[in-house]
Amino acid sequence: MPKEHHLKESMTNHLQTPSAKGGFRPLGLSEPILRAIQEENYEKPTPIQEQSIPHLLEGKDLMGCAQTGTGKTAAFALPILNRLEKYAEEPRKKEVRTLILTPTRELALQIAESFSVYGRYLGLRQAVVFGGVGPVPQIKAMRRGLDVLVATPGRLLDLYNQGHCRLDQVEMFVLDEADRMLDMGFLPDVRKLHNCIRSTPQSMLFSATLPKEIVQLTDEFLNDPVMVSVNPPSSTVEKIDQQVLFVDRENKGALLESVLKDKGIVRALVFTRTKHGANRIAKNLSKNRIYAEAFHGNKSQSARLLALKNFRSGKARVLVATDVASRGLDVDGITHVINYELPKEAESYVHRIGRTARAGASGVAISFCDAGERSYLRKIERVINRNLGEVVDHPFPSTFTRIKKNGSHGPKKVGEHSQERKPGAFPQQKKKGASSNWKSSRPGNAKAALIRKRRANNRRSTVQTG
Ligand code: AMP
Repeated sequence: MPKEHHLKESMTNHLQTPSAKGGFRPLGLSEPILRAIQEENYEKPTPIQEQSIPHLLEGKDLMGCAQTGTGKTAAFALPILNRLEKYAEEPRKKEVRTLILTPTRELALQIAESFSVYGRYLGLRQAVVFGGVGPVPQIKAMRRGLDVLVATPGRLLDLYNQGHCRLDQVEMFVLDEADRMLDMGFLPDVRKLHNCIRSTPQSMLFSATLPKEIVQLTDEFLNDPVMVSVNPPSSTVEKIDQQVLFVDRENKGALLESVLKDKGIVRALVFTRTKHGANRIAKNLSKNRIYAEAFHGNKSQSARLLALKNFRSGKARVLVATDVASRGLDVDGITHVINYELPKEAESYVHRIGRTARAGASGVAISFCDAGERSYLRKIERVINRNLGEVVDHPFPSTFTRIKKNGSHGPKKVGEHSQERKPGAFPQQKKKGASSNWKSSRPGNAKAALIRKRRANNRRSTVQTG
């Protein structure tokens, strides 16, 4: 039976951060944790941290929604570490005190790394468990018992079923990227694992996007939760300059190369829909002296880590990836995210572009849209509640136009460039011949944006009172 609850809404505006002035100290975290944060040069909590940590320190369940790259990991890691320290108990054999489930291996590693950093003075035992690598070191790590286990669901379930860990004493339970964890792909495994927890843990769900159907499912996992929503669900980081380039499908490869000639693109993450596509594009770019690595689920874990390492170090300027890299991946200094193909799910767009403009930086998101992807674009613009700025002055203009508001989308006459559209359809068009630096674009139609905003507000109120 789902537990009854109502979602208490906490402060919602990301600018309301009064105690942020005092840094982390007023939040009531312990000295060893404060020292570790200080060494990371975190001066003050981000809004999601400021608004979540006090509730979590009080032991409440929480549903946290904040934009990508705004410090969600520390928002749950710091209070968890605080509690582990406060109620320090050696975990018994095979026992797990904190369970954090995430959708990808890289995200699991990243979260575990954050726990090591923030908890460096606490001497806790932690491990990471995910598929694609040999299980023996993971089994060994679990044998002694763990304060913190970060895992992807499939492998953990396998190891649990083989009796390598006990989950009945889990005190704290986290679903990171909650909407992904609760979609049909992961939900059965997540449910099975959750059912193994016989205690009533303090539970927290975090995500940047929260579709309505997912909110309904959270009843199963949260008990009378506080809702902390720092920005509207699915809103995209304001500092990301979001652009769309209409292009015929067969010209996408050439357009990508042309775009990447801009040396202002220091580190680019290119998203494709298929693994095969990611391989092909990375190969073509490298052939043309743009060093690119491919990153997707068909690669071995060591190949994935190597690709990521080369990208992080700057050896590879471009990482071409499938959506496996769209969530949580935190690589410093990604200046550009390029959607070679638009995702079918609008939420994926939000996560993809969230790989840039992290921790207060700015960034550019460029989306290539071919004729068949225009309906995806419409969906994305509806969900993020804004129009992407259209860049018309690029070397491979399309033979079609954007789907109009009335739904018509006839092919553009050959030779008809986007610039030649009726004035007013897209205000502030770039003039023909203007240089295209991928850094500025024009805003979308204001009236359409207003209508979208109203619709989104209606949707949002359903979501948050849900
Ligand atoms: P996350 O959203 O958890 O992936 O965090 C995004 C980035 O923000 C990471 O590189 C963190 O190290 C960084 N970060 C998290 N909290 C803070 C903070 N309070 N001050 C500065 N940087 C932070």
